[in-house]
Amino acid sequence: MIKDMVIATGNIHKVEEIKSILKDLDIEIISMTSFSRYPRIVEDGKTLEENAAKKAKEAAVFFKKWVIADDSGLEVDYLNGGPGVYCARYAGEECSYDDNNKKLLDALEGVSKERRTANFRTVIAISSPDGKIYLADGKISGTITLQAKGSNGFGYDPVFYVPELKKTFAELDYEVKNSISHRAKALQKAREIIKNL
Ligand code: IMP
Repeated sequence: MIKDMVIATGNIHKVEEIKSILKDLDIEIISMTSFSRYPRIVEDGKTLEENAAKKAKEAAVFFKKWVIADDSGLEVDYLNGGPGVYCARYAGEECSYDDNNKKLLDALEGVSKERRTANFRTVIAISSPDGKIYLADGKISGTITLQAKGSNGFGYDPVFYVPELKKTFAELDYEVKNSISHRAKALQKAREIIKNL
């Protein structure tokens, strides 16, 4: 029976989201950055799977504990799956979310609505203390808008349109987005894996 699990992120929003989805499992969830020493992990994988597994494994071996890690990205069909794993720094090293959204809209300039399809995808990796990896993924399909719309959320939310809801992610309430998102779906699958470990 697993008693505790470390989250390989310092991002407070991810910590809260993961804690809330796993709350009934009776496992203490600890943020990596609450330890006095923790590893600095370079996210240099070519895929979301590689990055998530690398983060989970390096942290698990460092702490000798179970670890959960995630990696997410927006995969645009017209860009052959890009920016994908390179989402965070798509417009350059020090770029803002607005810079990334502008670069994406520019890259799709003149592309018809039908060809602006995209998926947000999350991969969650769970590592045992000795580095055995279990993977879970989740995705949501949508399209890239012609212009940014909405002010909630973060990242590419203003340009990601969910046809079923007729809204961008940035026009949805926090609770609604977090009930249908790529991360929520991956976390639900991860929860089933953890329950059966
Ligand atoms: P991370 O792996 O969750 O840190 O995500 C990497 C990058 O993907 C973020 O910096 C965002 O640019 C983008 N991203 C991931 N998830 C979302 C989301 O739910 N909305 C908008 N952008 C996201």
